[in-house]
Amino acid sequence: MEFKYNQRTSELLDQIQRFMQEHIYPIEKEIYEFTHNPDNLWVVPPQIEELKAKAHSMGLWNLFLPHEYEPYSPGLTNLEYAPLAEAMGRVGWASEVFNCSAPDTGNMEVLARYGTEEHKKQWLEPLLAGKIRSSYLMTEPQVASSDATNVETSIVREGDEFVINGRKWWSSCVFDPRNKIYILMGKTDPDASRHTQQSMILIPAGTEGVKIVRPLKVMNDLHSPHGHAELKLTNVRVPVDNLLLGEGRGFEIAQGRLGPGRIHHCMRLVGAADRALEIMCRRVEDRVAFGKKLSEQSSIRQDIAKSRCDIEQARLLTLWAADRLDKEGNVAAKDAIGMIKIVIPRMVQEVADRAMQVHGGMGICQDTPLPEIWTYGRLVRFADGPDEVHMSQLAKLTIKQVMES
Ligand SMILES: Cc1cc2nc3c(=O)[nH]c(=O)nc-3n(C[C@H](O)[C@H](O)[C@H](O)COP(=O)(O)OP(=O)(O)OC[C@H]3O[C@@H](n4cnc5c(N)ncnc54)[C@H](O)[C@@H]3O)c2cc1C
Repeated sequence: MEFKYNQRTSELLDQIQRFMQEHIYPIEKEIYEFTHNPDNLWVVPPQIEELKAKAHSMGLWNLFLPHEYEPYSPGLTNLEYAPLAEAMGRVGWASEVFNCSAPDTGNMEVLARYGTEEHKKQWLEPLLAGKIRSSYLMTEPQVASSDATNVETSIVREGDEFVINGRKWWSSCVFDPRNKIYILMGKTDPDASRHTQQSMILIPAGTEGVKIVRPLKVMNDLHSPHGHAELKLTNVRVPVDNLLLGEGRGFEIAQGRLGPGRIHHCMRLVGAADRALEIMCRRVEDRVAFGKKLSEQSSIRQDIAKSRCDIEQARLLTLWAADRLDKEGNVAAKDAIGMIKIVIPRMVQEVADRAMQVHGGMGICQDTPLPEIWTYGRLVRFADGPDEVHMSQLAKLTIKQVMES
């Protein structure tokens, strides 16, 4: 594995870092205040669209989409994208400015890989242009959805239409006023074999029968403007052409979608942890207690050293997983993807926690991004599958690899 970034990656990284310095960090506080003002609930800060136009014109756009999706892709590998996503991950909302944010990235990949020409024209192209947003509806409140075979939402064919009934929650981005399309996973044949009961179908936002029950808060934060919704779907009708890939192929699509989604979260999380460490270092050089700078206390130095080691290890593991994904594909690299999904969110929580601690009371209020960084680590320990499920699958795979060696 090559440890040095190639020329293209280095140039793009330099451009993104400069973009962050010039346009993102200076308005971080302003965006926080806007999105946390109740008068602006579900309103997109106007600066976001302005910055998107700027990033787009500079070619810093859709960098997440791997080269195999050309002509839609700008042509990078996952390994080349990793440091760029890391740079974006230093500020929670920055990836959207480069059209590289979840859940759209995963949804775009699904449409690019499994959509028909019509789906691509209608939904993929506006998503790639950053004109609309999207949601992914898999998790359900009444069943343990970490086992996706449990989902109960029914998709029943009636003539030229499918009729959908069920409940969903944690549907991220539903509240975003620009959202136009949902990808839903449900069951077309509950009597088929365990992994061929499910299908995925496209539901345009605003379709009759889709009711938003309530927004869900993440650690008491609504995550406006995109939010996370609980939804009830009652006799929702869509044309049969809205089905992706074919009946019974939903599980197959889910596997394809979640691998890249997980790795993108991990890449951004490494950047978030690195930012936390930087904030921590600046604080301890600046603060004096009991006659000494905090940076002179040995326990604080240990915390900084541990954090540095944790981040560097996590970064290397993520680059290795990205390289495996590029060279071996989603299925063969699933052990590597499982490893980063287990390691990185916890690492972020620990680093952010240490950084919060050195700030005293300031560490848990809105004056630094540290609580948001901690929360990002915490939530990814559920999103795209909880830790335990990844550990269970990794252990099974490891035993199998040993037994076959
Ligand atoms: C902020 C956020 C955003 C999200 N966005 C989306 C989205 O856009 N679309 C979407 O569909 N979903 C989304 N999710 C949902 C997420 O993917 C699920 O919460 C996750 O898959 C777990 O499913 P569950 O909540 O039903 O937990 P359950 O399946 O009920 O699991 C609960 C707990 O049981 C334990 N457990 C489960 N299986 C095992 C096992 N094999 N061994 C040991 N312990 C186990 C784990 O501790 C687990 O956390 C989001 C979640 C969050 C928090």
